[in-house]
Amino acid sequence: MDNHEEEGKKFLDTVMYYYDKAAAHTNLPAGVLEQIRLCNSVYKVQFPVEIDGEIKNVEGIRVQHSHHKLPTKGGIRYSMSVSEDEVKALATLMTFKCAVVNVPFGGAKGGVKINPREHTEKTLEKVTRRFASELIKKNLIGPAMDVPAPDYGTGSREMAWIADTYMTFKHGDTGAQGCVTGKPIGLGGIRGRTEATGLGVFFGLREFFSFEDDTKKIGLSAGLKGKTVIIQGFGNVGYYSAKFLQEEGALVVGIAEFEGGVYDGNGLDIEELFKHRQHNKSILNFANATNIPNSGDLLEMTCDILIPAALENQIHEGNADKIKAKVIAEAANGPVTRDAEIILLKKGIVIIPDLYLNAGGVTVSYFEWLKNLSNVRFGRMGKRAEEKSYNRIVNALEDATGKKISIEERMELTQGADEEDIVRSGLEDSMITAYHEIREAMIQTPSITDLRTAAFYIAIRKIALSYQMMGIFP
Ligand code: GLU
Repeated sequence: MDNHEEEGKKFLDTVMYYYDKAAAHTNLPAGVLEQIRLCNSVYKVQFPVEIDGEIKNVEGIRVQHSHHKLPTKGGIRYSMSVSEDEVKALATLMTFKCAVVNVPFGGAKGGVKINPREHTEKTLEKVTRRFASELIKKNLIGPAMDVPAPDYGTGSREMAWIADTYMTFKHGDTGAQGCVTGKPIGLGGIRGRTEATGLGVFFGLREFFSFEDDTKKIGLSAGLKGKTVIIQGFGNVGYYSAKFLQEEGALVVGIAEFEGGVYDGNGLDIEELFKHRQHNKSILNFANATNIPNSGDLLEMTCDILIPAALENQIHEGNADKIKAKVIAEAANGPVTRDAEIILLKKGIVIIPDLYLNAGGVTVSYFEWLKNLSNVRFGRMGKRAEEKSYNRIVNALEDATGKKISIEERMELTQGADEEDIVRSGLEDSMITAYHEIREAMIQTPSITDLRTAAFYIAIRKIALSYQMMGIFP
């Protein structure tokens, strides 16, 4: 077993441990619990690609964890650390993630063993189109079957290649764009998908911090204003989480990336740091911030909220004891290993778990899929009608009060919802509702004492209900 395979196994063990821990609180039949736990299908393929004049074999994997609802859903990651167990762990998480936020999909995940940083755009396009073709050949992708999305190392560019490949094969199928989400807007993507995961992380944290009874238990006041935050990862998820938290008044004091970290006790200016990185290709040497050469050290520094927003297995038995944060907010999938979790919970640290906290991405993917099936932009049909009716209300108010409302005020009061407003509202509602369901489960089942177990518990029960409705068990 190479190191990546070992890491993948550790990750899968962790997810299974979390599942079993929650399943123990249900009284569901053992066979049902086993069915909900197991990966329903695993497809592994090796395909040849010509890279710089040489033929290389590339490995691709697609795991569909649960078919209790279709399509299955989950991203495709490009990384040298891709292994079967890693993809299985991620696919498993997707099933529970969808259930937690009431997205009617089963879980899936894919991976291609390739380092995107080492290859040209042309090569990446060839690899992506070929992997998509392999999935199409086996009927493993499609709007009603399995719908990939971006993940670590992929983005809207790769999704566009997949969509185009699929549409070439399925010419004439009106819903074909719904074969993949996270696409560019011009190709059936949706406004608000890019920032969705980070915005979801923000909504989740805001919900946790809205309950003073809960924040008091860890010695913190309610609200995010003034809370200190350290984030590992300044990719799409890390950046947007930081941006929305800062807008709410939190102080993002540290950011860790693979080249090292930056720390500023007065708070980093996230937009400026973003520009700095774009310009210098590194977050280091930023304004008044101190460089932290070993980015792992940032995880152990004092802060209220630590947000791992990179990869799995980052907080492990080797560093868990040194974590000083009061809240760990899992923006990444699987950042805390099972051994670490035991230590962290004992220390009284609250973990807001991945299967809830980073579910904003798949939630907005669901909206994108709905948009593709209906072939119409959200807001297109109703926006003007809404505006007309608000204008009538404002006119009536003016008549009744004899007071003239300024043009600016009128514009603000009468604006109808466009696609971005609708997406954000749907995301906000999904994150708030899910948090309340998780919190309620902890209140109703006092033997459950942490948010992860509560999230898995409600997800397992929802999935079991689907099987029950199908008549699989009485
Ligand atoms: N890759 C993301 C995740 O881990 C998004 C999945 C999706 O949108 O289907 O949740």
